[in-house]
This record gives sequence, C-alpha cells and structure tokens, in this order.
Amino acid sequence: MTSAAPQSVPDSRGRYGPFGGRYVPETLVAPLEELERAYAEARADQSFQKELDDLFHNFAGRPTPLQFASRLTAQLAGPRIYLKREDLLHTGAHKINNALGQGLLALRMGKKRIIAETGAGQHGVATAAVAARLGLSCTIYMGTEDMERQRLNVFRMRLLGAEVTGVDSGSRTLKDAINEAMRDWVTNVRTSHYLLGSVLGAHPYPQIVRDFQKIIGEEAREQILRAEGRLPDHLFACVGGGSNAIGLFHAFLGDAKVKMLGVEAGGRGKSLGEHAARLAAAEGFAGARPGVLQGTYTYLLQTADGQISTTHSVSAGLDYPGVGPEHAWLAERGRVEYTAAGDGEAVEAARTLARIEGIVPALESAHAVAELIRRAPKMGKDEVVVLNLSGRGDKDMEILSRYV
Ligand SMILES: *Cc1c(COP(=O)(O)O)cnc(C)c1O
Repeated sequence: MTSAAPQSVPDSRGRYGPFGGRYVPETLVAPLEELERAYAEARADQSFQKELDDLFHNFAGRPTPLQFASRLTAQLAGPRIYLKREDLLHTGAHKINNALGQGLLALRMGKKRIIAETGAGQHGVATAAVAARLGLSCTIYMGTEDMERQRLNVFRMRLLGAEVTGVDSGSRTLKDAINEAMRDWVTNVRTSHYLLGSVLGAHPYPQIVRDFQKIIGEEAREQILRAEGRLPDHLFACVGGGSNAIGLFHAFLGDAKVKMLGVEAGGRGKSLGEHAARLAAAEGFAGARPGVLQGTYTYLLQTADGQISTTHSVSAGLDYPGVGPEHAWLAERGRVEYTAAGDGEAVEAARTLARIEGIVPALESAHAVAELIRRAPKMGKDEVVVLNLSGRGDKDMEILSRYV
C-alpha cells in the first residue's frame, strides 16, 4: 500500500484554509522570506536530506520502535495498542527531530548562531544539544519564573554550552521569553537563526516544523503495515502547539479510513484560565476563538474583549493559549477530532502505563494515554490503535511525586 498523496497545504501564502499566514512587523518580512527560500532549496536537495537522515539515525536514535503494548491491550480488553516510542530519542522527546532539521538549515544559510525560547526547558535542551553537535553558538531565552521551576534543565542547557538568558518582564514565563527572542532575532538576523519549537508562528515555520516531524508518521505507517498487514483504525496524540501530533498524522491524512484524535490539556476545569483546550470547545471548554498570536491566525484562548487568556495544565508542554494553524484547519474540516483530558486523568494514565508497560511517559503524552484508556472499552478487539508517546517522564518526577 503506498502512501496517499499528502495534502497540498499550506498554499503559497502559508494558509491552511483561513488559518496560518504571516502577521508580522515589517522588520520580519525579509528574514521570513529568506528562510522560506532557503527551506525550499534545502527540501529539493538530496544531500540535505541525507545529512539529516544520518543525524536522525546516529545522533538522535531513529527509527524509533513501534511497540505492541500487549499488557495494556490485555488490561483494557479493547483494541490492539501500539506505542510509537519517541520517548526513546536523544534528549527525551520528539523535539530533537525539528531541532536537527532547523539546525542544519541554519548551517546552510551561513548562520552561526541559534536563538530559541523555552518554557519548561525541553525545547531548549534539544536545541542546545543540536547547536553543540553542529558547532553553532546558542542563546536560549527563558522567563525567570520558569528558570526557577526548571533548574535542572537550565543547568543541562548550560552544560551543553548554551547561554541561558533570563527574562524578567511581564509574567516572567514563556510568552515574555518569546518576545525577547523575537527582539534578538530582529537585531541579529544576519548572523542568527530563530529556531521555533512547534508548528506555530508565521509562515513558513508551521510547514518547516511539520516537515521535520513527519518522519514519525512515515515510520509508523511502514511499521504498522509490517506488524498488522494493514493501516491502523485510530491515531492518538497529545496537542500542545501540535508538532508531535501532526508529525504522526501527516503520512495518514490521505487515508480516509484512519481516524485521528488530538488530545489537549483539560487542566482542572472548563472555565477560562483553567485549561488549554483550544479546539475541544464542543465539550464545553470556554474561551477559544480565532485570532492572531505570534504571527499566525489560529484558534486562541481569549477573554471576551480579546485579551490572550492565561492557561493551566499539569504538563508545561501543553500549557499554551494557541494551537498550530494546520490543526485549526483539520478541526474545522472535521478530519481530526479534538478532545481534552484533565490533569488528574493524565497523572493516573502515567501511573498505569508505568506499572503495566514499564514506561513512565511525559505528562504531555499521558494525556493521549488517558483518552485511550477512556475510549478503549468501547472499541472493538479487532481494531488497531497507534499512540504517539511523544516523550519520557524523567522531567516530570517532581510533579508526579507531588500527586502520587
Ligand atoms: C513539547 C512537548 C509536547 C507538546 O508540543 P507539540 O508541539 O504539541 O508536540 C508534547 N510532548 C512532549 C514530550 C513535549 O516535550
């Protein structure tokens, strides 16, 4: 069975239906156009892909296994469950796929310096590791509040040679770090590449990040065909910005029979400020409407007068008011279903997977596991599920120990 033709999105203006695009100040138009040109050339260049494949294999640990979760399958007495083990990658999550791709792109553009921002530190650690491997200098912006909460990751980034710059303005968290990183990029764009960590931001970032993550689904497709002799019935993935989910989904989008489920953070309640469910509004989560944030038009959690809302999730990687524009479009067309799992369910699911399969998942990935546990009893025994285990739970021990 060959892969059905992938969707021809985004269009030439970076649009996914009405979503996406490029809403940026004048100073960023030229750098984004330069990036778009460089990426188009890299994409058509076999030597670029070859170099990336080599790094995927020898540095990051690809291909990752597609593991049949026999004990979880038996316990839930529902579908046959396979786990795509992105948690086994170097630095602990799928984020290294994109960091490697963009790092190589920076080299190709002759840029010797990487700028990134990080919330919990996972994207920062992946970026710092890639910068070191490729001989690039690296500045990571991080809110001082987040630095306090994630001291080990700050240390890890510095050990990898990155300069971690604390941001003391605003709420001293991710969105303030993004503003500082953008300021740096505008000032140093000739020498620096801004390495964005998810399928967010202005065109061409959502497309670039998706393309570097789509290896997840390409491998999973081959692996499940080998294991089951057919395509899966369902794909499950958690959705923060949406990069691990679209990475799994992309290779299957043309297969009408493959159902896809994106699981957002239901947090601790449905009122605005208590969750990070941008696309699961049908389930009563308040506050999501389309708007512009950080260069792209997409669904955002916002107050009645259009201010970006605070969000809550037990997992830092899902705790963000916006979602990738391609997901907004997939939701609006009904191609992918979006739902949410809460803090408590995610923690419980992490414990279940730890005890039954010997895998402690990242709390982000545990949201997808929670939804699978909820739905499995209603699914047939002959159905096949592939769930993306986007990362490992080592980083979450402190939070888990507080709950358990
Ligand atoms: C960052 C992160 C996520 C959320 O980001 P996406 O772009 O939605 O994939 C999910 N899982 C893990 C393990 C992460 O580190």
